Amino acid sequence: MNKFQSLRGFNDVLPADAPAWRHLLRTADEVFAAYGYAEVRLPLLEQTELFKRSIGEATDVVEKEMFSFQDREGDSLTLRPEATASLVRLGLEHGLLHNQQQRLWTWGPMFRHERPQAGRYRQFHQLDIEAYGLAGPDIDVELIAVSARLFRTLGLSGLTLELNSLGGPDTRAAYRAALVAFLEKHEAHLDADSQRRLRSNPLRVLDSKVPATQAVVKDAPVITEHLDAESRVHFEGMQKGLFDLGIAFTVNPRIVRGLDYYTRGVFEWTTTQLGAQGTVCAGGRYDGLVEQLGGTPTPAVGWALGVERLLMLMKAQNAPVPGYSPQVYVCSLGEAAEREAARRIEILRDALPALRLILNAGGGKLPVQLKRADRSGATLALILGEAEAAKGVIQVKSLRENTPQTECAWPELPARLSALLSPN
Ligand code: ATP
Ligand code: MG
Repeated sequence: MNKFQSLRGFNDVLPADAPAWRHLLRTADEVFAAYGYAEVRLPLLEQTELFKRSIGEATDVVEKEMFSFQDREGDSLTLRPEATASLVRLGLEHGLLHNQQQRLWTWGPMFRHERPQAGRYRQFHQLDIEAYGLAGPDIDVELIAVSARLFRTLGLSGLTLELNSLGGPDTRAAYRAALVAFLEKHEAHLDADSQRRLRSNPLRVLDSKVPATQAVVKDAPVITEHLDAESRVHFEGMQKGLFDLGIAFTVNPRIVRGLDYYTRGVFEWTTTQLGAQGTVCAGGRYDGLVEQLGGTPTPAVGWALGVERLLMLMKAQNAPVPGYSPQVYVCSLGEAAEREAARRIEILRDALPALRLILNAGGGKLPVQLKRADRSGATLALILGEAEAAKGVIQVKSLRENTPQTECAWPELPARLSALLSPN
């Protein structure tokens, strides 16, 4: 029979990698809560139309990356490629957005039918944080500060922050005209997608990954020269705010972001340590999106972080990850001792609920059980033979140091273990 394999671009997370995932998510949870952001959880499937209308028809995501299908009722559904559209849908559906301020975050798998490579998958995960009802630039700065603190708390360094402003509708119109005039002169050197987008959605051409197109775009006019007055004030405010917090950045007028809904301030955190997939976190403002999806005009800003890319960076920088391996392995020999151990260990777990302890299962002679204990990564073995069972004691043996084995009465065991095991 054929062996099953996971789908291309869909990854498993094995026990050895899970602690880093858990550490990243726990740290993010703590940092987001510290700034007053509330968690929401979103479904993985939505109506296809939600993404078409928000992300934009002439984007890579909608044109070629969505996992869309018809369900049994003939409705077109899509595995979410990102969280913002769903978050706005949630906010509108539950009345969280009208005349309110909301600080929200979520996380989970996203799906895009891309060419899988290191740092680019078909199922990947994003941490996503967004604020609604706040026009900024103070909140734009806060959101960037949250990301900077997350990186710092994880022990990461060397990430670069790049900013740009895409302006409001006036900026877009003026810039669009200047950009089209420039691109038309170089049309022959653009890739086919970009030639098409030159008419449908010219800003997207700036986001092309095709080297020949990138070479043309290098000399294109820059959007920051066309900023409307309000967007200029907003952009300056962002820069001042970041300066006040000591968060270094550079302005990069080439950043347009891959989704159509962005306006005004946009930013990316990049690293040179991950090769071509160097953008770890990206976001910006999308003041028109709520209205576009049927709500009243509501300013909004947020970012999404690629979890797999951040984990790769943590690995590359050897960022510390707390271990979650068991601390104690309990060996018991013979039926009477096994039953005694099972009963006593449940009582021990009442006393030390956080203790990570494996109770040997499936019998075995002492050397076999000790080998399992060693492989488990535990620091201590507890050994219960028939003699110990009769006497109401247990042997405490270090698996990592050459110290003598000692006897301990069950009532004293919680205190003894707490003293022997490091708080980690
Ligand atoms: P890229 O330019 O790398 O394709 P993007 O502009 O499509 O990124 P966003 O939609 O802004 O990315 O998503 C935010 C972040 O999510 C990215 O900066 C990246 O870290 C991560 N990300 C996006 N697509 C993928 C993917 N296919 N696999 C892994 N991570 C991804
Ligand atoms: Mg992309």
